[in-house]
Amino acid sequence: MNKIYLDNAATTPLSEEVIDAMVETMKVNFGNPSSTHSFGQEAKILIENVRRQIADYLHVTPAEIIFTSCGTESNNMIIKSCVEHLGVERIISSPMEHKCVSESILDMKNRKGVEVNYIRPNEKGDIDLAKLDELLKNSDKKTLVSLMHANNEIGNIVDIKKIAQICKENNALFHSDTVQTMAHMDLDFSDIPVDFASCSAHKFHGPKGIGFAFIRKATGLKGIITGGPQERSLRAGTENVAGISGLGKALELSLNNMEAYTQHMQNIKQYTINRIAEEIPGVKFNGRSSEADNSLYTVVSLLLPYKNPLIGLQLDMKGIAVSQGSACSSGASKPSMVMMMILSEVEMDHCTPLRVSFSHMTTEKDIDALVDALKEISKDFVIENTNVEHR
Ligand code: PLP
Repeated sequence: MNKIYLDNAATTPLSEEVIDAMVETMKVNFGNPSSTHSFGQEAKILIENVRRQIADYLHVTPAEIIFTSCGTESNNMIIKSCVEHLGVERIISSPMEHKCVSESILDMKNRKGVEVNYIRPNEKGDIDLAKLDELLKNSDKKTLVSLMHANNEIGNIVDIKKIAQICKENNALFHSDTVQTMAHMDLDFSDIPVDFASCSAHKFHGPKGIGFAFIRKATGLKGIITGGPQERSLRAGTENVAGISGLGKALELSLNNMEAYTQHMQNIKQYTINRIAEEIPGVKFNGRSSEADNSLYTVVSLLLPYKNPLIGLQLDMKGIAVSQGSACSSGASKPSMVMMMILSEVEMDHCTPLRVSFSHMTTEKDIDALVDALKEISKDFVIENTNVEHR
């Protein structure tokens, strides 16, 4: 069976060049970067070159880039250290964040007594920035705002610069989970006054097990993993040199091809929207997912007009991998918080969300196969009328 991968927001396949770079690093640069001999120093130079490359991309200083094992670790470190070391007493966030952010915040609430304010999104998944400003003006407590740049389930992109400016005006720290946007778009942190951001290499054809945190120097954030002096004592532990090399190569490929990749994925996304809207009567698109602006070009989130918790499995049996991003995918799994926020009760009860996510390798043929499979599966279901008020 010819298998089709349309779950690139979950992870992306490694580029050949990335694999080659990593194999070369594992063979040649096996030294411990903390060793003072030449083996160690060569590994160290490799790490510092990638750090410089990232810093140039973000228009920041290399000292503000801290390698970690993944996006989850970066977000945990930032949120927990803000509370433990920077005296943050209140966090403002939204219920749409990735679990690694929302669970870190909850942990700080439960263990450290931090006050947490959530801004509820509207049915499009938008956050009201006037509400953010109002909340910030309402309290003198030292506050961290944590709002993701782009949502991994529905693809909505926020105005990160505007949010950062509101935070600055109100003297609050600002963290943005940028895992879905890093290496997918230009990000100039000399112009966007964000304090903290995160990255995961496996979202742009790099390896798993490597990411980084951007930590603005002036914040004075400290690490939560203690031990040796690696990463300027912000993240102890011998560095993942091959992973860093793979991240560097993946970033280089993304940046060198950004225009072509963006154009390709925008076309594929529009093609997907058009074909699905034509062939699946009653389908809707979640959040801002069907819009060219304010939405990731990598993600389309559909709402199928019937309830079918097995759709992910059925597509998988036809060789097509998507993400169910489910309102209630099975008895075992909980409804997605994002879907609960943006869908009406009727939609939650009678519809099926599905996330299709692309890479520069996705073809129109892949999308045709998805549409054929969806048509085939949809035949067995009665289309529900879900045109009712949103919650
Ligand atoms: N944040 C967002 C928005 C994500 O999509 C993901 C991964 O799915 C993460 C954080 C976690 O990244 P990692 O898989 O590197 O831990």
